[in-house]
Amino acid sequence: MYSPDMSPEEFTAAATAFLDANLERKEAEKTFVWGEGSDKVNVFEERTRQQELEMLEESKAWRRKKFDAGFGWITGPTEYGGAGLTPVHERIFNRLESDYKVPNQGFFQIGLGMVAPTILAHASSTAKDAYLKKMWRADIVGCQLFSEPGAGSDLASLQTKAIRDGEEWIITGQKVWTSGAHYSDIGEIICRTDADQPKHKGLTGFIVDMKAPGVEIRPLRQMTGGASFNEVFFTEVRVRDDHRLGDVNNGWNVALTTLMNERAAIGGGGGGADPLTRVYAMVRHYGLDKDPIVRDKLADLYTRYRVASYNNQRAMAKIRAGQTPGPEMSTAKMALTDNQLRLCAFLSEVLGPKIVVDTGEWGTYAWNQLILGTPGLRIAGGSDEVMRNIVGERVLGLPKEPGIDSKSPFRDLAK
Ligand SMILES: Cc1cc2nc3c(=O)[nH]c(=O)nc-3n(C[C@H](O)[C@H](O)[C@H](O)COP(=O)(O)OP(=O)(O)OC[C@H]3O[C@@H](n4cnc5c(N)ncnc54)[C@H](O)[C@@H]3O)c2cc1C
Repeated sequence: MYSPDMSPEEFTAAATAFLDANLERKEAEKTFVWGEGSDKVNVFEERTRQQELEMLEESKAWRRKKFDAGFGWITGPTEYGGAGLTPVHERIFNRLESDYKVPNQGFFQIGLGMVAPTILAHASSTAKDAYLKKMWRADIVGCQLFSEPGAGSDLASLQTKAIRDGEEWIITGQKVWTSGAHYSDIGEIICRTDADQPKHKGLTGFIVDMKAPGVEIRPLRQMTGGASFNEVFFTEVRVRDDHRLGDVNNGWNVALTTLMNERAAIGGGGGGADPLTRVYAMVRHYGLDKDPIVRDKLADLYTRYRVASYNNQRAMAKIRAGQTPGPEMSTAKMALTDNQLRLCAFLSEVLGPKIVVDTGEWGTYAWNQLILGTPGLRIAGGSDEVMRNIVGERVLGLPKEPGIDSKSPFRDLAK
């Protein structure tokens, strides 16, 4: 255990000692050799429910150990179980931890990356006490209950209702595309609480118990084969008023807190040039590295991945300096999906039918998991088209895109 007034050097020594005692170090990065090791290249993890539960237990065990040693929520306020240290301490720990074999932490991405910051910003002290420590210690997992069959990009159109009943609210409606709902304990839900207000103004956020009577979770199978998402049905589910997030009818601001964290999380991982190492090896394997057209396309891909990586580094440098990143963050998610779509098109051209028929040849059909998963990235956390609107309007200052709620530009002409 370390003490909060340790210098960064002392903290580094304490963190290294903890990691050495509890995890194996990663082997030194080997040069990638075509045909060796796993040829798996996935966007979504494809696993059975049983495999998923076993992985989840292992991932939770690591978080618990880390939390109990004081490294689980380094920047969190001490009153809610955090260590109360600075972002510098957190960066030191994350950097050190990345050299070790850590069990899959993807299970906590939504709960800790999006829901917990929203609880910290908007929940009552009762709810903060009840959930924050448990979430960071992985005693419970959180999910995001925003999208509905008729409300995705236009989230404010959502129809799930919450009706007040004394000190409780009664929730009825349907959510969809809820990632990880099947292994989550709580969810952040946005409901309509006043149908007479303009649509952005009649919404309220709550924390709902995913195991409560009236919650039904049904898996949705995606085209890659697995079922990472769910439909979630709410039939008169009761939530206490002290589980409300923010003021009544101020749910839009609550949702924005979550969405800002979501886009930063998705875009922030998008700059690396990693998938290309495998692509260069593939091109050499097929003797295409002298083909001028292939070389030209590869150079284009390399340049785009590199630019995205520098752009991300610029945003991260701003965050480290305590500034708010601007256009870099808005474009990061677009760059991630655009680069990956271009990569998929390139792979399809090079591999042709080997992408759609499994011939058993190493490193060929395996790419189809990436190709089939990539459209999901284009949609999650704000579709490409919606992100372009945001960049157009908020970064470039272009006139607002006409939406379904906008006044028609021809309305006055019709008089
Ligand atoms: C991998 C993944 C994980 C997800 N996880 C979750 C989750 O955990 N919780 C959750 O609540 N939701 C989740 N979602 C749902 C996601 O938030 C929605 O799919 C997304 O908001 C888009 O909504 P929609 O699917 O209803 O599409 P729609 O909004 O109906 O869009 C359909 C098409 O119209 C286009 N379009 C829409 N509006 C405009 C506009 N104004 N201008 C131009 N074009 C427009 C879109 O770009 C798209 O091409 C997830 C989705 C994916 C793919």
